[in-house]
Amino acid sequence: MPITEQNAATWRADLPRETDVIVIGGGVIGVCTALYLRRAGRRVLLLEKGRIAGEQSGRNWGWIRQQGRDPDELPVMIGANRLWKELARQTNVDIGLKTGGVTYLARSAKQLARFEAWLPFARAHGVDTRLLSAAETAELVPGMSGGFAGALHTASDMRAEPWRAVPALAEIAAREGVVIAEDCAVRVLDIAAGRVAGVVTEAGRVAAPVVVLAGGAWSSLFLRNHDVHIPQLSVRATVASTTPLPEVASGGVADHRISFRYRADGGYSLAAGGFHELFLGWDAFRALPKFLAQLRADPFGTRFLPAAPRGYPDAWGTPRRWSADEAGPFEALRVLNPAANAGQLRALKREFAALFPGMPEFELSHAWAGMIDTMPDVVPVVDHIAALPGLILGTGMSGHGFGIGPGMGKILAALATGTPPGHDLTRFRLSRFMDGTRMDPGPAL
Ligand SMILES: Cc1cc2nc3c(=O)[nH]c(=O)nc-3n(C[C@H](O)[C@H](O)[C@H](O)COP(=O)(O)OP(=O)(O)OC[C@H]3O[C@@H](n4cnc5c(N)ncnc54)[C@H](O)[C@@H]3O)c2cc1C
Repeated sequence: MPITEQNAATWRADLPRETDVIVIGGGVIGVCTALYLRRAGRRVLLLEKGRIAGEQSGRNWGWIRQQGRDPDELPVMIGANRLWKELARQTNVDIGLKTGGVTYLARSAKQLARFEAWLPFARAHGVDTRLLSAAETAELVPGMSGGFAGALHTASDMRAEPWRAVPALAEIAAREGVVIAEDCAVRVLDIAAGRVAGVVTEAGRVAAPVVVLAGGAWSSLFLRNHDVHIPQLSVRATVASTTPLPEVASGGVADHRISFRYRADGGYSLAAGGFHELFLGWDAFRALPKFLAQLRADPFGTRFLPAAPRGYPDAWGTPRRWSADEAGPFEALRVLNPAANAGQLRALKREFAALFPGMPEFELSHAWAGMIDTMPDVVPVVDHIAALPGLILGTGMSGHGFGIGPGMGKILAALATGTPPGHDLTRFRLSRFMDGTRMDPGPAL
């Protein structure tokens, strides 16, 4: 099951008075950033308001995919694939890493042509993605009803078990000397002479010349309190796991209605690929104009709900301003643990059974949801914040940050140490939201 506040905290380090780098947020991005900073010889403090991997990083589908990536993310993702394999050898538990491939099913020739348009990006980077015929698709995923026109398939894509994997990466980081504190919210940045001098946490002040913010769905709220504005929104996405079933595909498979991924426990993780729910709030209204291109591309993919539950980053009553000596919104809600959408769960069970008429009877063993943080152009922000020297932002992974986590963590660590990141980060710059750049979701699938 996903990690919640009911799970006892594992990491309760005493805070140092000062350190080299502070990382805010114990998701896959913060954990990997902290790990690679430590490997670069820095003293690192990783602060998490709730639990390591309590939010998105422990609630996702577990797909580690190159397939369909934004072309600017693809080289980072190829590197992340290698890093996952390395890291899986260093964890103290089996994180379920398997090279099972990723497959997108096409219902029509038109959809297949859309998939085909992504192939040149794969070829340019030597990724083994290929287009499968109808017969090859039926052979790859046997037993499916529905007569698919074909599929896009990347055999080298992988899967892992999120709520085991990210805590296991944190354990490597701690073993190597990263100081980790859970139940420790950062209230505000400590600013001195116009630059970052550290953070103020609920347990006191810690000095550091560099801070990396990897706050997932909370980043925009945190930054707004420091007058930095980013058009980030979060949507609720529902997931379920099934009781054990025969393995018809070892990796991730999606069509436009349902996606499924074989799990290490012998069941499948099921989700509705193109469906999510946006709770309306002040940020939603402010940011929506920038999201129009995304909404137009998939007009029925988003369902709007009038209000987020209490304490959510964009709930109507969530404070937008607070000071260092007040318990701010991060202490009020330790772990975003949205209720799964019950109608979606019924639909998922029905759709999966209909797709595989020969499957034995099954039940949904668990159900959960997560708040996915996303940017209008569906790529993250990975950049220095010019207005606050010393602050680096790694957020807005837009629904695909689990797989790329180690790659982005390595880049953020390079930004924090002033070494070359090894990738062109232009597309991920913060200024794109202010300099008139068109919000283009690009050719990502
Ligand atoms: C249902 C679902 C399915 C997904 N499927 C996939 C998939 O198959 N493959 C894939 O690659 N990606 C997938 N994603 C996306 C992926 O999970 C995210 O992009 C990724 O986990 C983001 O990591 P993160 O570290 O940026 O954020 P998070 O994991 O959300 O972590 C941010 C952390 O920061 C902490 N925090 C925030 N503010 C503060 C503060 N002030 N002080 C201290 N701590 C703070 C939060 O408590 C949180 O734990 C999916 C996401 C969901 C929800």
